Parts: sequence; C-alpha cells; structure tokens
Amino acid sequence: MFTIKKKFYFSASHIIEGLPDSHPCSRLHGHNYIVELILAAELLDQTGFVVDYGDLRSFKAIIDNELDHRHLNEIIPGPTSAENLAYYLFQRAKAIWPQTVAVCVSETPTTWAEYRP
Ligand SMILES: [Zn+2]
Repeated sequence: MFTIKKKFYFSASHIIEGLPDSHPCSRLHGHNYIVELILAAELLDQTGFVVDYGDLRSFKAIIDNELDHRHLNEIIPGPTSAENLAYYLFQRAKAIWPQTVAVCVSETPTTWAEYRP
C-alpha cells in the first residue's frame, strides 16, 4: 500500500455547543487549524503517484474558500469539534478522491483528531 499525506492550514472561530459555561470551549474562540489529508492506493498511476500533490489544490480551495477566517458553527453540520471537522473534511475529500483514507485535524500543537472509516 502506498500512502501520501499533505498538510493544509486555516484560521477560524467556533463555539462548542452543549458544554458548561465553565468550559473554555463553550466561549467564542479561534484556532490556527492544521489539516492533514491522507490518501492511499495499492497501485500507483502511470506517473508513479497515488495522487499528484498538485491535484490536491482543489482541497486547498475548499479550505480557503469555505473555512478560512469563517465562523465554523455557520458552516459545519453538527458539532464543530476537531473530530467532526475531520469527518466533514473526509467526506468532502472522499467525494473527489476515492483514495482518501483519513483526515486529521489539529487545533493546538499537542492535539490531533482523526476520522478514518
Ligand atoms: Zn476550539
């Protein structure tokens, strides 16, 4: 199995609904998010790629145009946790590249959430 990964960056605000007022994530705040897109294939294409990294610019366009400097609660269906954001972005990527195997989302230097079916 061949696997490739590419990182993407954006900044956005959110509120996690349903938490007690004492929880910091219940208040309006923002993150400098890192998204890692992971694709895999048993066989390489004719040029030796899983997917050309250059083709992933359409995933960057989704992030830049739909998420960057936005309020995620107005965009993401359901909770705006890193876990659900990873699920949302996985669905978007999988619709374009069947080779998509996982999406990871980081909100802080020490935390990552991953969605992998
Ligand atoms: Zn947060």
